[in-house]
Amino acid sequence: MSIARNLIVLIMLTGLSTTHKEGMSKTVKDIHSRIYTIDSHCDTPMFFPYKIDIGQDNKTFTVNPLLLNKSEDDGPQDYQLKVTIPQMQEGLLDAVFMIAYLHQGARDAKSSEKAVQKTENILKELIRQIEKNQQTAGLAKSFADLKRLKKAGKKAIFLGIENGYGLGKDIDNVKKFADLGVRYITLSHNGDNDLCDAATKSYQEHNGLSDYGKEVVREMNRCGIMVDISHTSEKTSFDVLEVSTKPIIASHSSAKAVHNHPRNVSDKLMRAIAAQGGVIQVCLYSPFLKKGGQATVSDAVDHIDHIVTTVGIDHVGIGSDFDGGSELADAKGAADMPQITAELLRRGYSEKEIAKIWGGNLMRVLEKQKK
Ligand SMILES: [Zn+2]
Repeated sequence: MSIARNLIVLIMLTGLSTTHKEGMSKTVKDIHSRIYTIDSHCDTPMFFPYKIDIGQDNKTFTVNPLLLNKSEDDGPQDYQLKVTIPQMQEGLLDAVFMIAYLHQGARDAKSSEKAVQKTENILKELIRQIEKNQQTAGLAKSFADLKRLKKAGKKAIFLGIENGYGLGKDIDNVKKFADLGVRYITLSHNGDNDLCDAATKSYQEHNGLSDYGKEVVREMNRCGIMVDISHTSEKTSFDVLEVSTKPIIASHSSAKAVHNHPRNVSDKLMRAIAAQGGVIQVCLYSPFLKKGGQATVSDAVDHIDHIVTTVGIDHVGIGSDFDGGSELADAKGAADMPQITAELLRRGYSEKEIAKIWGGNLMRVLEKQKK
């Protein structure tokens, strides 16, 4: 990005910054109408036990403080969802990956079977809600689905699973979940499981990917499910790159060189992921973005800049982790996503580059999963 180009962009974008749609600049609106915008990670289904509906307007409800990483002593907490269909409409966001999240629990046969059942229940409830909201949204399994839905003025919901624990000990569950529509599986969460070692709460039990984990990666390749290395240890991630015949993703991780956190991706790993055509989806969780305090859109875009500088424009995207703990000072949910576009424009990114960051790169990786 040349200085001259930055100057031109600056002149074009004077008065760009505002939070709500009414004040959103025409440039940002126009870009969002032409490109595909995808958030690769949100944990909204985690709130299904509270009888929420992804199609509802934002209502406040009371949740267990543990869900919001607070202590029991804090008492019940008021909460508003950050990702709903109305908020996606307000934020001109075309698609999200909604995730069936499994907390890492005991790994005996019975507990593992329960984790599989729980995964299936969450996914089926999500599918039920998507069908219930078919006037405004639809289930997406491919880039073609997203294109069709956007054309019809609807939001696209992709399915993912966060934690391979949800596969239990039966490799056939990969195919079962692929058939339900799952398009990526995060191999672990916080803590080792039967598949691999995690980045946090790990005893380095397998020294990377286990034999079962290798089998799972091959089966995911066969079934068209993207392998997600967010949450896995660095050694696990390199093992995955050795086994996988398809490009992989980090669905919600940021850059370790910008802020040193075990959940972030090192430059070395970033280069290896990029060399195989994969993508790193920058997470909007403050502790991954900067040291102390609440991060801003600008902090998040610093991570995007670093990935672009290190491995190029074709290997970066956005995975917010909204409703999983993320919130930026100036972008609190799906309704505020245009703030990111505005910041990218301010820094001199072209529409073509923004289209890659906002979803083009991720859809390229998804398409590559097909045989
Ligand atoms: Zn996560």
